[in-house]
Amino acid sequence: MKTAVYAGSFDPVSNGHIDIMERAAKLVDKLYVLITYNLDKKSIFTLEERVNMIKKVIKSDNIEIAWTDDLVVKFAEQHGATALIRGLRNIKDFESEIALYHFNRNIDNRIETIVLFPTYLYTYLSSSAIKELVYYDQDISKYVPSIIKDEIYAGIKRSFKKP
Ligand code: ADP
Repeated sequence: MKTAVYAGSFDPVSNGHIDIMERAAKLVDKLYVLITYNLDKKSIFTLEERVNMIKKVIKSDNIEIAWTDDLVVKFAEQHGATALIRGLRNIKDFESEIALYHFNRNIDNRIETIVLFPTYLYTYLSSSAIKELVYYDQDISKYVPSIIKDEIYAGIKRSFKKP
């Protein structure tokens, strides 16, 4: 049984993430979507909100949503996963993704990294771009699933304290 892990902060999840999740789920028997803490970023949505939003939008039944405050590689080892899925959007991602690849491989070289390129429309989409669009009252419907759009919009708005 092939098991992989797709990790990220998903704060909030975007169509770019969902695209990668659904495509990765077709390559393996089981895919863990793993919510991680990002030490550098202050989160907008709680863990529970992020889990629930992802649950509402994923279609493949071999996807399980989990979270960890440990290293992604450790989670993979403990859950029998042999691959980490990453989305590589553009050259800017390349530097950080290759660094992450070596970092993870130095911890456990039995765990492979599989890189998927996003669908064209999502190549420059990031959670930060979504936050910025909401800050300036712009429509985000091209970038997030429609059933969670209002929840994402309201959550981001709540997080801003306009000067
Ligand atoms: P992090 O905060 O750790 O970068 P993210 O939640 O932003 O985590 O992203 C998790 C993974 O999803 C990363 O591999 C990232 O490159 C990828 N990703 C982020 N945005 C997109 C997108 N628009 N299209 C495809 N992959 C993406």
